Amino acid sequence: MSLSQGRSYLAIPGPSVMPDAVLQAMHVAAPNIYTDDLPDVVRSMVTDLQVIAQTDAKVAMYIGNGHAAWEAAIANVLNAGDQVLVLATGRFGESWADMAVACGCEVEVMNFGKRSTIDPDQLAARLAQDTDHRIKAVLAVHVDTATSIKNDIGAVRAVMDTAGHPALLMADCIASFACDDFQMDAWGVDIMVTACQKGLMTPPGVALVFYNEKAAGVKATMPRISNYWNWTPRAEGTELWQMFCGTAPTHHLYGMRKALDMIMEEGVAHLFERHARLAAAVWAALEHWGQSGPLEMNVQDPSLRSNAVTGVRIGAPLGTQLRTWMEEEAGITLGIGLGMADFDDPAWHGFFRIGHMGHVNAHMVLGVLASMEAGMTALGIEYTPGGVSKAAASLAAGSKSCGSGDVQSCC
Ligand SMILES: *Cc1c(COP(=O)(O)O)cnc(C)c1O
Repeated sequence: MSLSQGRSYLAIPGPSVMPDAVLQAMHVAAPNIYTDDLPDVVRSMVTDLQVIAQTDAKVAMYIGNGHAAWEAAIANVLNAGDQVLVLATGRFGESWADMAVACGCEVEVMNFGKRSTIDPDQLAARLAQDTDHRIKAVLAVHVDTATSIKNDIGAVRAVMDTAGHPALLMADCIASFACDDFQMDAWGVDIMVTACQKGLMTPPGVALVFYNEKAAGVKATMPRISNYWNWTPRAEGTELWQMFCGTAPTHHLYGMRKALDMIMEEGVAHLFERHARLAAAVWAALEHWGQSGPLEMNVQDPSLRSNAVTGVRIGAPLGTQLRTWMEEEAGITLGIGLGMADFDDPAWHGFFRIGHMGHVNAHMVLGVLASMEAGMTALGIEYTPGGVSKAAASLAAGSKSCGSGDVQSCC
């Protein structure tokens, strides 16, 4: 008998759970785009987005998804024939590379596999070979949502600086934005792309491109850029039609404004800490369950895991069986194992992902984990029982009243 009635939980790594407050903010009559305050709304959002990204960079918004942000970033600084180096640690890095190929760039992919991070030594060796500085941009994904590997983007910049290499550094923060700490300026990122439907808790539809002075300088040398992709009027225009090259995504702006209000009210430090603690609870359960049986996290080193998403390997066909059980019996949708095996390969059914990004709290995470334990039992999957207790203990250990009696010392 299915127990999935009640509110469902989309625990996939994007789109993420939409807060009721965001949905309600969108439930308004059509505004007058010529007279209402939408340009101010956009400007106020830019200020908040800069706080989250820890940057003074300019921000261009597009009606689009993450793929639009990828193309926008490429279109503003790369010509056909320009050489690009992509540092891939999963399907999303590979897809950004495909996009650059389709835009006519000469693309070289350094693939670090599905379970490890970017190797700084290999990157250093490659950059050292590029003595005449033909590589114009280095593209890296902060958190590759397919593998759930988190890369050290500051380390990539350090390698580029040590090599004295002038290429632009471009980072994809579509999965990690507003979940994992990302310091655009301190880490020397020239262009950063993200979108509104993951950590920003807004329905899919707004793509964001952040760019610094150096990137603006490269853009100024471009022979031509389409009006639509050109980031300058979007980031520097004063009129709403300039900011979106036409009609603005009016209701998305109201929704995103509300989502950013919620984030600012929580505080960015707390936002990252909440995601870190919820992710730690997920890992505590998975670690424990995996002591026997087939389940294991894709990323072994906790420092390479993301606060936003966790990739799990369990072997075919158990991954699909568990996802199906979770959806039908418990009302929870887990993420598919994107890019870990081809769709027509039976091994594809051996992977899944848990999204823990955005509008997520302790009881939601515990609900997912407890339901997973029920599902594994129901399906006869071998595991070490007690993972939920480990997750609960992990959450308790970081909470205000953690037994020491001294609130200051334990939080
Ligand atoms: C979700 C995601 C994308 C793609 O975004 P779409 O909105 O589906 O186009 C790209 N990169 C990363 C890291 C993502 O998580």
